[in-house]
Amino acid sequence: MAGVPRVVVVGNGMAGFRFAQELLALGPGFDVTVVGDEPGGAYNRAQLPGVLAGTVREDSIELADEDWYAVRGARLMTGVAACRIDRGGQRLELADGSAVPYDVLVLATGSEPALPPVGGLVERDGRLLTGAVAFRTLADCAQIRALVNGARHAVVLGGGVLGLETACALTAAGLPVTLVHRGPRLMERQLDAGAARVLARTVRSAGVAVRTGAAVREVRSIRAVGGAGHLTGIVLDDGEVLGADLFIICCGTRPRTELARAADLAIGAGVIVDDQMRSVTDGRIFAIGDCAEHRGRTHGLIAPAWAQARVAAMAVTGRDTGDTGYVGQPAVVRLKAAGIELAALGSARGGGGAEVIRFTDPARGVYQKLVVRDGRLAGAILLGDTRTAGTITQLLDRGTTLPADRSALLVASRDGTAPAADSPVRLPGHATICQCNGVTKAAICAAWQDGARDAGQVAARTRASTGCGTCRDAVEGIMAWLAAAEPGLVPA
Ligand SMILES: Cc1cc2nc3c(=O)[nH]c(=O)nc-3n(C[C@H](O)[C@H](O)[C@H](O)COP(=O)(O)OP(=O)(O)OC[C@H]3O[C@@H](n4cnc5c(N)ncnc54)[C@H](O)[C@@H]3O)c2cc1C
Repeated sequence: MAGVPRVVVVGNGMAGFRFAQELLALGPGFDVTVVGDEPGGAYNRAQLPGVLAGTVREDSIELADEDWYAVRGARLMTGVAACRIDRGGQRLELADGSAVPYDVLVLATGSEPALPPVGGLVERDGRLLTGAVAFRTLADCAQIRALVNGARHAVVLGGGVLGLETACALTAAGLPVTLVHRGPRLMERQLDAGAARVLARTVRSAGVAVRTGAAVREVRSIRAVGGAGHLTGIVLDDGEVLGADLFIICCGTRPRTELARAADLAIGAGVIVDDQMRSVTDGRIFAIGDCAEHRGRTHGLIAPAWAQARVAAMAVTGRDTGDTGYVGQPAVVRLKAAGIELAALGSARGGGGAEVIRFTDPARGVYQKLVVRDGRLAGAILLGDTRTAGTITQLLDRGTTLPADRSALLVASRDGTAPAADSPVRLPGHATICQCNGVTKAAICAAWQDGARDAGQVAARTRASTGCGTCRDAVEGIMAWLAAAEPGLVPA
């Protein structure tokens, strides 16, 4: 390629922005353009449920304003969709009729909400009925908040993480909410029947009405003559009608692969990439984040999206990405709802000769389970008490052989005291504290020694807690321990 290589990123979401950030931090020498169909700069999508609940300020979720790109010599084009990749001509065509030439193209198009086959949901013009929102973006969040004002009853469809967070957020906002879930139990991809039972009880006691094993057949609406329809109710499969003026759809997502498909790139569930996040069809095109399929897996989580963004940035600059580049990582899913502690890590399905260690205390809403295969942790569920999540994540990540007394990883929470294995003092330096950014305890200690004295300062230096935010308490715990420690005790 002659001249300064032109790197064009499609999608200014969590992965696209992080890619641009990593690439620009690795040094000058690239002509970077980011094309995003949402308005404005990048924001932290994972914090939207907090914005809905009113626990997170909307302006605090911004990752970068529009000036951020200009200051670094990059170009940001917002509110415009890329509509075609001309691979032969190495041009990206945009919906406004313009085109951007590229030497390297990075697809970071994310995913879109899956819409269930519900009668009456979609209007003739393709839009959802007024009162129904498929929750994905900041604009959706603003729309829901506007609809909450004056609403009397909300139905949330989908008992996965996002459905639960949304139902709890709306309940916290003072709205009666029914959560309708088609599957036999909540979060069935991550939880077993015992955990799901305890979770349902906890969610009900937070004020959410939970209906599992129920599907929505159609929506009811009223319509002014010649005007738009307004939602009035939800009809379940068995004919029961739930009165509702707000219907939030959280039924899972689908990777956005339409651009890649039309350009004849190899597609499975997502754009199929190698370990450097390059399309296996075209080495000039990368795919990262929710839209990418790596080794047969799509992820839909921040931690892989950001790890992939870094690998792709390194690969674009020609830097060494390690022996293997991106190698994948176990899924770590955490629920962000006030009063509900839940972490599901790896695969917590038993069977096939797995050793299962379980501790339950339904009255306290506690259910904990470890699944061990060949002496190593395969998965865990921590509900009602997630204080050992740091240690357990580290054991899962590193595939370390477990200690003989596995129950020590859970049992310490029985009396309500901090589990010894999870105290900041006992955690090894390489324990991952912030899963989204892969920040270890040692990195947090180093930031402290470098002068960081609160979680915000640590975040500025290490990015810890800037993803889903569930590690903030752990970061603060380490800071408190460092502050109290004798100077000589603080690890170098
Ligand atoms: C409400 C909510 C809460 C979540 N909470 C968590 C959590 O707690 N923990 C966690 O790990 N994950 C969470 N997730 C998932 C996480 O947000 C995603 O995994 C992450 O955003 C993936 O980043 P991405 O860049 O691949 O996709 P996105 O962040 O969706 O960004 C893709 C961007 O590309 C744009 N785009 C798509 N096609 C085009 C086109 N043709 N032209 C221009 N622009 C285009 C999209 O509009 C979007 O702006 C949550 C998701 C949601 C919706």
